Amino acid sequence: MRAIIPAMTDLEQELRRAVEGDVRFDAYSRLLYSTDASMYQMEPIGVVVPRHAGDVQAVLEIANRGNVAVLPRGGGTSLTGQTVNRAVVMDFSRFMNNVLEVNEEELWARVQPGLVQDELNHHVRPLGLLFGPDTSTSNRATIGGMLGNNSTPAAPTRSPTASRWST
Ligand SMILES: Cc1cc2nc3c(=O)[nH]c(=O)nc-3n(C[C@H](O)[C@H](O)[C@H](O)COP(=O)(O)OP(=O)(O)OC[C@H]3O[C@@H](n4cnc5c(N)ncnc54)[C@H](O)[C@@H]3O)c2cc1C
Repeated sequence: MRAIIPAMTDLEQELRRAVEGDVRFDAYSRLLYSTDASMYQMEPIGVVVPRHAGDVQAVLEIANRGNVAVLPRGGGTSLTGQTVNRAVVMDFSRFMNNVLEVNEEELWARVQPGLVQDELNHHVRPLGLLFGPDTSTSNRATIGGMLGNNSTPAAPTRSPTASRWST
């Protein structure tokens, strides 16, 4: 126990210096992120809410140097404990949730990983387009989480799973 606490404090300080987004190591935040939609509960080391790709890179570099696990999280709707662990949880859903570019001719969109599926479809529906793996959690599930889980449509359709939509 004595050995772990100073290391955690060093990690938090290093993250605070390098990251523009939120760095939360307080007990309330760790409790909040210790559960997802599954039956599992595990307290993370801390939580980072990145604002941009530079923050993500900084977290990965710092965690790698300290040999600490990093766990990305979108909507946290996974059912088998995918987003809870003894790790630095990175929550993409708060700030990194934008549509960056849609190419109507070539049928692709560039988005940030915290974008919710329904938000993407709301954005592209006027173009007659749809991101197809229609999960029943589509108003919470993020594109990053859908790819992480290789999400599938709730009902039988001809739409492929999430990873078949990505390049
Ligand atoms: C009531 C209910 C119904 C459901 N119905 C369906 C369904 O019809 N079809 C289906 O497929 N699933 C379903 N699910 C499971 C879940 O909702 C989906 O898999 C959903 O797409 C997960 O998205 P999320 O944003 O919540 O991901 P999360 O739970 O946050 O994360 C899922 C995985 O992706 C990883 N991840 C998240 N963001 C990133 C990132 N930026 N980079 C790398 N990895 C990342 C996480 O570490 C985790 O391993 C259901 C769940 C519930 C509770």
